[in-house]
Amino acid sequence: MTTTQDLRFLLIAPTAKDAEITSGLLNGAGIETAIFTSLERLVQELNVGAAAVMIGEEHLTGASLAPLAAWLSRQPPWSDLPMLILTRPGADSPESAEAWRTLGNVTLLERPTRVTTLLSAAQTAIRARARQYQIRGHLAERQKTEQALRTADRRKDEFLATLGHELRNPLAPILNSLEILKLSGAFEDARTAPACAVMERQVHHLNRLVDDLLEVSRITRGIIEVKKEALDLTAIVKAAIETSRPVLDNLRHEIRAEFEPTQICIGGDAVRLTQVFANLLNNAAKYTNHGGVIKVTTRREGGEAVVSVKDNGIGIAPSALAQVFDMFMQVDRSTRRSQGGLGIGLTLVRSLVGMHGGSVEARSDGPGLGSEFIVRLPLMTEAALPTEASRRIQPLPSKRILIVDDSRDGGESLAMLLRVLGAEVSLAHSGRSALDCINSFRPDVLLLDIGMPGMDGYEVARRIRANPDNRGISLIALTGWGQDEDRQRSTAAGFDHHLVKPADIDQLRQLLTVA
Ligand code: ADP
Repeated sequence: MTTTQDLRFLLIAPTAKDAEITSGLLNGAGIETAIFTSLERLVQELNVGAAAVMIGEEHLTGASLAPLAAWLSRQPPWSDLPMLILTRPGADSPESAEAWRTLGNVTLLERPTRVTTLLSAAQTAIRARARQYQIRGHLAERQKTEQALRTADRRKDEFLATLGHELRNPLAPILNSLEILKLSGAFEDARTAPACAVMERQVHHLNRLVDDLLEVSRITRGIIEVKKEALDLTAIVKAAIETSRPVLDNLRHEIRAEFEPTQICIGGDAVRLTQVFANLLNNAAKYTNHGGVIKVTTRREGGEAVVSVKDNGIGIAPSALAQVFDMFMQVDRSTRRSQGGLGIGLTLVRSLVGMHGGSVEARSDGPGLGSEFIVRLPLMTEAALPTEASRRIQPLPSKRILIVDDSRDGGESLAMLLRVLGAEVSLAHSGRSALDCINSFRPDVLLLDIGMPGMDGYEVARRIRANPDNRGISLIALTGWGQDEDRQRSTAAGFDHHLVKPADIDQLRQLLTVA
């Protein structure tokens, strides 16, 4: 917005009388003026606003020129303040030559100046300044729009994080209940088996979507961690094929693998990289008609490890190739596949590969001609690969477990599952009742939800830890929040372990074994 100060001519004339006359002329032409007697005061006033400056060259002596030159050099990019300098008659003086050299947008007006010359120069300066204000307005507008976009983007990220978290809560009891059905034989009973299989497939699909959603919101907020260790790339790709096996088999696709015969050593996060290749395989399966052929190769090329996932599916139009990695981008929403997604799988792939110092590229000869996704990762030369650690899970030992969860479904389904697995379980639905229950039930382990109304899980943990009688109790946080800062907070409150809902039953078994 332009203020009245922005429209002023700041004036230092050679004499007080000159100042009065010049100001009168400018005022007469509708130009506001402000008269100064020192350059120092004038420079101070520039901060308030000015359309242009008119100075008699007598005032531009060496020392006084520096602050003005400094002010002019600090102008924002839109600003180029017009300077009109009234020179003495005759040959060019050193002051005006210096001013011309250092002050930028300078017009020299030789005295005595004709009234029309003075007024036209003043009007030209004002017009030039008005243009600059216009640019300032556009820039401010753009800044406001960018700010609004950033705010909207941040809100979207926060919304996605909350959405993912909220969807995870109901998923936990469903997954637990499914495990119970499995243990009770419902998956083998001919009457219930098909329904159980549908439920299992769909709930796992839902779980994957929620995982993707949470993952992408973590990436956009820059809070994802990649833990790098020496890995064999082919082993990772094999694990990804196994992860995607149900989808591949379901759609009767044939997998043709061509693996580099020797180990391809890379530095990476096994979980994240498996996720990358499983995403590519799932896409190849989704976007290829039943009974397709999916070729997976691993190889060394130059200093890089290369994985290619190539299908003979619906292909991608050349115009869409560059965009498939953009968030929420789906080439053709009208032909939704049965196992549709959210359009974030490839965004995740690109981000995760980037975090490993690699790149991913999409190729296709066009619609109907199949697609190929090529991932390149830097090779790791020196490190020897660790031998595959034994992942056998021991059976659940007989432990007394207290589950504390304000969600009744969540708590009860987990209790049922752990009871089926042989544990002695008690349930509390609030922090306070958990503390009462500890004295009567004397648990070995507490599975403690964190976000509960009234006394939250942190407070319960702190109170338990404050009582020396409870020394032997293991505390496991079981919560929807799984970021590093959440883990740090739970450790600080006295928890021994931190699990994210829905807890993986094998992981829980392992923890209960060591707890
Ligand atoms: P989603 O599969 O959830 O839609 P992705 O980010 O994984 O999201 O993929 C983005 C889009 O890229 C898909 O919607 C699809 O249009 C296209 N695409 C991905 N993989 C393939 C493929 N193998 N063949 C053809 N199109 C693909």
